[in-house]
Amino acid sequence: MDRRDELRRGLDLTWTAIGSACARAGRSADDVRLIAVSKFKPAEDIRIAHELGQRDFGENYVQSLLAKQAELRDLPDLRWHLIGHLQRNKARQVAESGACIHTLDDARLAAELNKRASGAQCSLDVFVQVNLRGEPQKAGCSPEAVPDLVELITSCTHLVLVGLMAVPPNSDDSDDVRGNFAALRQLAAQQTLPLARLSMGMSRDFEIAIEEGATDVRVGSAIFGERG
Ligand SMILES: *Cc1c(COP(=O)(O)O)cnc(C)c1O
Repeated sequence: MDRRDELRRGLDLTWTAIGSACARAGRSADDVRLIAVSKFKPAEDIRIAHELGQRDFGENYVQSLLAKQAELRDLPDLRWHLIGHLQRNKARQVAESGACIHTLDDARLAAELNKRASGAQCSLDVFVQVNLRGEPQKAGCSPEAVPDLVELITSCTHLVLVGLMAVPPNSDDSDDVRGNFAALRQLAAQQTLPLARLSMGMSRDFEIAIEEGATDVRVGSAIFGERG
């Protein structure tokens, strides 16, 4: 199979599975945004996926996001998402890229991003990343820290808070997986402001995530194949 056929197959299977999960949950497939996670894959893969109709792409590193954005400058309708940990010293670059940021998890980073977005005269869509289980090796703020961070971001005139994001623990127990997604949904519902979006679910569990309310699923290997 050539690369185009492989990617067409991966995207078709993913779009179909999203449609079925939405039907099971009584949701419209238009309410779910598929973010094709293109990390470690060449810009050429993104170009092919774009030809096949995919528009949202996710990268883990600011550097790769910028490099691919530059290489694909002739495709103006691509939408970029930063889904990996963001360091404060990369805030200016990511603000200038205009990417949606899924990994905002502390107050100083929010303030820096706001300042840089203001300098770039743009506004950025952001998700607050939550570390639901307090896993030490993972980024994300604690569930208890969410209300203060939400309030702070709301006062940032160049940031638009769109929702919450999580990368729950890897588990073979589907009830456990479902419970974590439900916990993120409940946490969003408890906030004083409406948080419309939930960024949750990867290749192995995006269908469960959709059943539990995901609006943004981040799918890599199911589309592009295994890493490397
Ligand atoms: C790599 C990654 C994904 C996609 O993972 P797959 O298992 O390849 O679908 C989603 N979210 C984050 C934060 C990631 O780092």
